[in-house]
Amino acid sequence: MDIDLARAWVQAITVAVGQHKDHLTQLDSAIGDADHGTNLDRGFTAAAAAVSDLNPDTVGAVLIKTGTTLISAIGGASGPLYGGAFRALGQALDTPAAEPLAFAGALAAGLESIQKLGTAVPGDKTMIDAYAPAVAAFEEQARQGTGFAAAAEAAADAAEEGMRGTTPLQARKGRASYLGARSVGHQDPGATSTALIFRALADTAAH
Ligand code: ADP
Ligand code: MG
Ligand code: MG
Repeated sequence: MDIDLARAWVQAITVAVGQHKDHLTQLDSAIGDADHGTNLDRGFTAAAAAVSDLNPDTVGAVLIKTGTTLISAIGGASGPLYGGAFRALGQALDTPAAEPLAFAGALAAGLESIQKLGTAVPGDKTMIDAYAPAVAAFEEQARQGTGFAAAAEAAADAAEEGMRGTTPLQARKGRASYLGARSVGHQDPGATSTALIFRALADTAAH
């Protein structure tokens, strides 16, 4: 991971979120307040603009800027959760280029940030259900010495599997938890956007 890849990643997330905006909002209309797509579209559009104006010396500078912009541009739960995660990721990457293992450690710091703020655990039907397996998959590949692109691909696959796994779960955090048993049978919007974020990383790293 280097500065150009970090910037390209944020741009690729913005494109993916724009393309899937209506789907994310539809998912959130079933078990939330129908704003997840517009929240993320607003946040990442602002982050991509902020990052393209930046002249960064480190990967961390790109990701911290992304995080602070998400926090200020998104009103909902996902703003501070994703914003805090990108900030934590950036704080762990105070370097112009990071090896896969270092990036795995940064992803873990992002996960810790989401869990500290939101207190969700795996199985609560949140973004954690996609994020946690993605971090584990990335780390496992990195430990085996696989390259960055292959690790990112494994992380994206794991995030998508985790995302699909949220459908039968009952929500225990966030707005969806107000529905109780009626939240069962719907895919979690935040787990879906987390899968987009990791797929964007894999696609960017593959080029
Ligand atoms: P809001 O619910 O405030 O409208 P969004 O619609 O943007 O915010 O985001 C909803 C998503 O945020 C949920 O689908 C879920 O994945 C995630 N989420 C909500 N609360 C938590 C939490 N406490 N921990 C982790 N993720 C959460
Ligand atoms: Mg919402
Ligand atoms: Mg909302």
